Amino acid sequence: MAAADQIAPVRAALLAWYDAEARTLPWRTPPGVDVRPDPYRVWLSEVMLQQTTTAHAAPYFAAFTARWPTVADLAAAEDADVMAAWAGLGYYARARNMLKGARSVASDHGGVFPDTEAGLLALPGIGPYTAAAVASIAFGRAANVVDGNVERVMARLFAVETPLPAARPELRRLAALFVTGERPGDRPDERHGDWAQALMDLGAVVCRPKSPTCGRCPVAFACRALATGEPARYPLKTKKADRPRRRGLAWVMRDAAGRVALARRPDRGLLGGMLGLPTSDWSDAPDDAPPVAADWREAGAIEHVFTHFSLTLDVRAAVIGDLAGVAADDVVWTPVEEALSALPTVFRKALERGLG
Ligand code: SF4
Repeated sequence: MAAADQIAPVRAALLAWYDAEARTLPWRTPPGVDVRPDPYRVWLSEVMLQQTTTAHAAPYFAAFTARWPTVADLAAAEDADVMAAWAGLGYYARARNMLKGARSVASDHGGVFPDTEAGLLALPGIGPYTAAAVASIAFGRAANVVDGNVERVMARLFAVETPLPAARPELRRLAALFVTGERPGDRPDERHGDWAQALMDLGAVVCRPKSPTCGRCPVAFACRALATGEPARYPLKTKKADRPRRRGLAWVMRDAAGRVALARRPDRGLLGGMLGLPTSDWSDAPDDAPPVAADWREAGAIEHVFTHFSLTLDVRAAVIGDLAGVAADDVVWTPVEEALSALPTVFRKALERGLG
């Protein structure tokens, strides 16, 4: 079976499936409704959904759009408020880039998002994927929206034998066939936003990474991977080297009023600009000198996996009787409940361990 010959039938079948089965998502306009979604909401959802599930992102999306209903509202927000509201979504560089993008839309574009892929890509903090997704979904542009889900679907439809990441250009080229057709000017139809979202839905609910439910798949008739009998073998992957492991110490300092000492992390680097617990360096041999003299208790350790390394944090806890020893410039004394809801996951886990 040559899936390249079946661009139009695959496209028609997937769009028909999307018309019937589209997921209901808070940032989405259902198929068949002749209203374009708000670009701000599309953009915000796409930024949140990178590396995050829809179920995890949905409450954050609701909270952000309730608190900052327009891009101008978000642009005017305090950095620290946005970073605190982002806590738990991970990949904090995205939140910083999101703010840069919002501020550029507000100040350079009168609060109106550019309506082309190139215009969106020119905004600070917006990468090729987000620009394509917003151009396609919010503005109906013929943009090639390719994320990990789309790569997987293309690798399977065409049984691509080149492993990732080397296969990326080929997978992108194959995905483009469905957007622009096989020849210049050969556009199958104009439902570009629906096509992008239909592919996302297919990858999320049917053509899943480990266990594709091919019996329910609207494009099974054209799928070469299914024909091999081992669809989940695709996409092939180059074996990754193991993640390096680092260690560190986290210091849980509480005062008599039940507050905990948090420290603002440097703007640059991992979790930059976020509030966290005071910690040592994270390395093979971290410095274990406590920030102040106190009766420190060993509270166990937590594990956390970042993109490029795994971290074991040994947690030490103490009640600080004499606050004079803790420089006020270095820490922010914060009620424990507030700290638990505002901290990035790695520090929330360490704080919970230190309180236990
Ligand atoms: Fe994915 Fe199976 Fe559908 Fe092929 S038939 S696209 S492997 S769900």
